Formats: sequence, structure tokens, C-alpha cells
Amino acid sequence: MKPFVIVTGASRGIGSSVAERLAGDGFCVGINFAKSHDRANELLEKIISQGGEGFLLPFDVGSREAAKEAMEKTLTDRGVPWGIVSNAGIAMDAPFPVLEDDMWDKVINTNLTGFYNVIKPVVMPMASARKGGRIIAMSSISGITGNRGQVNYAASKAGLTGAVKSLALELAKRKITANVVAPGIIETDMVEALNKSEVVRMIPMRRYGTPEEVAALTAFLMSDDAGYITGQVISVNGGMV
Ligand code: NAP
Repeated sequence: MKPFVIVTGASRGIGSSVAERLAGDGFCVGINFAKSHDRANELLEKIISQGGEGFLLPFDVGSREAAKEAMEKTLTDRGVPWGIVSNAGIAMDAPFPVLEDDMWDKVINTNLTGFYNVIKPVVMPMASARKGGRIIAMSSISGITGNRGQVNYAASKAGLTGAVKSLALELAKRKITANVVAPGIIETDMVEALNKSEVVRMIPMRRYGTPEEVAALTAFLMSDDAGYITGQVISVNGGMV
């Protein structure tokens, strides 16, 4: 049986590429999503048509109850995962003076608390299984440098770094690594509204990154080759920082 991994927010964008890449690398992939059922199903069919394995795992990462129930059911049905990619995320941008309370709450709840909601139910089972494992959080360049109009988003992404670095220390003895992937600007729905010609001028490589380029780094961190890398924040950003 193939080892299995879970990718949150895998119906579109970066998560979808990560799931496809990990399936190609030989993992059975749990495809989490909140709303885009058709897109998730298309991805699953694509993975299967390429000889891979996967399954749909729909739930809202921002709901503690839903995440706990889905993760516990997955543990019962499939055993302990080799790894989790906590990728689901949203942005609700506004200059801080006009940022509304619910824009703060929703972004923190999905991006940072969502990580807790998904990882908490599986960490003890992973540690107890004594088989090692991988925890990977999708952060952002905004969590490293900050960004105008993204006080909420940058806080959520910087929070992931603190959480992952601490988890890495706690889990090292169990051979479970925990790392952060920090993309720059990647061609997905999330950046559709940006003025591309203006934005690319801030990128030394003068282009957006692709979801596949983020997936390649994530797949490496998921692999056996990355077993001595933990507690790190690794950027994939075309040279922006
Ligand atoms: P995207 O194209 O907007 O896709 C977001 C994905 O997250 C979708 O699959 C969406 O699924 C899922 N999602 C959102 N809220 C969810 C929730 N509450 N529960 C479960 N799934 C949820 O975004 P992306 O650009 O691929 O971003 C993926 C991650 O990379 C995010 O954490 C983002 O912050 C980070 N990132 C992106 C960029 C960039 O430039 N694109 C840069 C740095 C970091 P549904 O459609 O089913 O809701």
C-alpha cells in the first residue's frame, strides 16, 4: 500500500499542483477542499488517470469540529499519514485603518487556526506510530517581510513560522520534520486581481512563479531525502528576498 499524505486546499492553485506532484511521487493523496467540489473531483480523476491514488477529504479547515471529525475518521479508515501539507489559505486585503474585524478574524481563522485544527488531531498518532513524518505549512513572503494591505495575512503567515519552528523542536526526536514553504507571487486565482505588469517589476526574475515550482520544493521536503531538514523557512520567490 502507498504511504498517504494530506494536502489542504488542494482543489485549486498551489495545493492542486502539490497534490498532483505528490501523487506522481508515489503517495496516495488526501485532497482537502472547502467549496470547489468539481475541481477537486477533476484533480482526483487526473491523478487516477496518471496511475496515482487519492481520495477526497472535504472540510472547512477553519472549523475545529469539522477538521477534527474528518482527520479522526481518516485515521480510523486509513491509518496514520506520512505527511500533511497545510496549504489552505485566503487573503482579505485592506489598508489597516479600514481593515474590518471579520477580515482579521476570517484570515487568522483559516490560515493560522486552520493549521492548528488540521495538525493537532494527527500529531500524537504520528508521534506514537514512530515512523517519522512530514509537516509542511504554506506560508508566504508576506509573513517574512510584511506587506502593505496585508496586516492580517502577514500576521497569519508569520504565525505559522513560530508554530512550525516550535513543532520542529518538539517532534525532532520522533523523526517528524516540520518546515515552512514561503512562496513569492505565484500564478493562481489568489493573485488574479493584481496588476501583473506592475507587480513583475518587483520580482528580480520578472515573472510570477508557477504552482508547479512550489510543488517541486514541497515534494522535496516530503521526500526521504529531506529527513535532516527541519524548522526551516524555505522561499520560492524569484529572488524577491
Ligand atoms: P487559491 O488559488 O485561492 O486556492 C486556495 C485553496 O485553498 C483552494 O483549493 C480552496 O478550496 C482552499 N481553501 C480556502 N479556504 C479553505 C478552507 N477554509 N478550508 C479548506 N480549503 C480552503 O490560492 P493559492 O494561491 O493556491 O494559495 C495556496 C496557499 O499558498 C495559501 O495558503 C496562500 O496563502 C499561499 N500563498 C499563495 C501565494 C500566491 O501568490 N498565489 C503566495 C504566497 C503564499 P475551495 O475553493 O474549495 O474553497
